[in-house]
Amino acid sequence: MQEAAGDRQIELFERDEVDTALDPEAAFASWRRPGVSHLRHSHVFLARLYNLIRDRYPDLLRELLAAGCRELRFAEGLPPALRARYVPRREDDDFTILSSRRTTLELVMRRFVERRGGVRFHPGRTIRGVRLEPGPEGIARVAALRWSKAGEAAGDAQLHEQEFDVVVDASGKSTRFPAWLGEQGVRSEQQSAPAGILYFTRHYRLLEGRCEPTRGDLPGNGDLGYFKFGIFPADGGNFSVTVALPEEEVALRRAVQTTEGFDTACRACPGAARWIEADRAEPVSKVYGMGGLESRWISYRSEDGRPSVLGFFAVGDSAIRTNPLYGRGCSSGALQAHLLAEVLAEVGDPVLRAVRYAAAQEDEIRPHYRSMARQDREAIRRAARLREGGTMRGLRQRLRRSFVEDGVLVASRGSLTVLRALMRGFHMLEDPALALGDPRILLRVLSFWVRPEWARQPLRAPAAGPDRQAMFELLGLPRG
Ligand SMILES: Cc1cc2nc3c(=O)[nH]c(=O)nc-3n(C[C@H](O)[C@H](O)[C@H](O)COP(=O)(O)OP(=O)(O)OC[C@H]3O[C@@H](n4cnc5c(N)ncnc54)[C@H](O)[C@@H]3O)c2cc1C
Repeated sequence: MQEAAGDRQIELFERDEVDTALDPEAAFASWRRPGVSHLRHSHVFLARLYNLIRDRYPDLLRELLAAGCRELRFAEGLPPALRARYVPRREDDDFTILSSRRTTLELVMRRFVERRGGVRFHPGRTIRGVRLEPGPEGIARVAALRWSKAGEAAGDAQLHEQEFDVVVDASGKSTRFPAWLGEQGVRSEQQSAPAGILYFTRHYRLLEGRCEPTRGDLPGNGDLGYFKFGIFPADGGNFSVTVALPEEEVALRRAVQTTEGFDTACRACPGAARWIEADRAEPVSKVYGMGGLESRWISYRSEDGRPSVLGFFAVGDSAIRTNPLYGRGCSSGALQAHLLAEVLAEVGDPVLRAVRYAAAQEDEIRPHYRSMARQDREAIRRAARLREGGTMRGLRQRLRRSFVEDGVLVASRGSLTVLRALMRGFHMLEDPALALGDPRILLRVLSFWVRPEWARQPLRAPAAGPDRQAMFELLGLPRG
């Protein structure tokens, strides 16, 4: 947005005050960000965002890497069968993940924006409401924002007011704009669905002279149905482990939110255990927990489909919130900001601006949102089945599961062509439905699916961890 603003000034209101002169260690230890409750949860940038930074902001990428942020490359994560016959392709450079503590990512990006100019930061100022005025075609326009300084009462009489040409809501998942606008008659539509999971993260640091386990030998993430885990390499010899549990796993949740329970559960999963071995790394944080996770898409439109408000645009989680498991939130937000910047630069008419921005989000982000929502529904059903000790009923359900586990997953570990096709969807580089819609890829997958089990077995990922009953026993929990 900064790049597209030209000679227009951007005023950035931010309720939290943080010291950007700190180094990454001090920022991680001391930043307080009540506005971002997920600040100390694991974060990676998918390739969609990595490529954007690499191609358009090479200086920013250099600064992120200089601060210790990590590039996790396609080749390093290959399973053994593929690594042996891997021949690099140019396209593989586009499947790189950027991984780091979120405080470090924020710190470097914030300094980068501050230095480039064109953006005036107003830390410690909280937006409290909006003033509307009549706009073209009978549609209300956001004319001004009301805000308060840190320490000031939020009562109406105390509020400051400032007028703007364009207002962008980037206030995240707890945005109040739909409510403020709704009180003044502006209609918004919300589609939402529970992510169905709770998130737990703990940070660790490598001991002096020790290094990370080789990626690829054992996957650094695993899905046991009732328990998912992921390893997130970070800057400065740090890494974090994140565990996601189905919301209904009450006893497991209580165990995992303690440091002992968290480490015991992770040690039972070989892909996580080798990272947190006592002679390799030490824990440096408590277990951070987070619930209330959902996917949500907010559109500002009237019943007849026309925009319901003008001069106002939502980017990031305030418009589109996604299940953190997919790591798509930051990529979506950055993509939206660039789409909006293009629309504002190319289109002057306020109604057309709103229409074009909504359409661009539909084209670029909806396919990923749709595929995530479908996978979430399936994961919630699978977790419920495991809890109830049931099996899959219908033939169609069983076939679909087998196609995924015995076809797609096995093929992704046995065929570089299939893996690359799936990566394009995973990294938000193309519609995730395209991979299996391509007859060439589908045939490759089918060729793995129809193989006898003895031929598929060597390609399967090693068991990611114990079954639910064994995990409960390890944690000393009564069978749920
Ligand atoms: C547990 C968890 C893990 C995640 N992991 C990943 C990941 O690995 N990769 C990924 O891409 N995404 C991940 N996400 C999603 C990602 O964090 C979000 O998509 C991203 O932070 C959204 O950015 P945003 O700028 O829209 O909102 P936020 O990052 O939430 O920022 C909103 C900002 O607005 C400020 N603010 C709020 N209200 C006001 C107000 N009234 N006045 C002034 N300022 C205000 C806040 O202080 C804050 O600075 C994760 C999310 C969660 C919950």
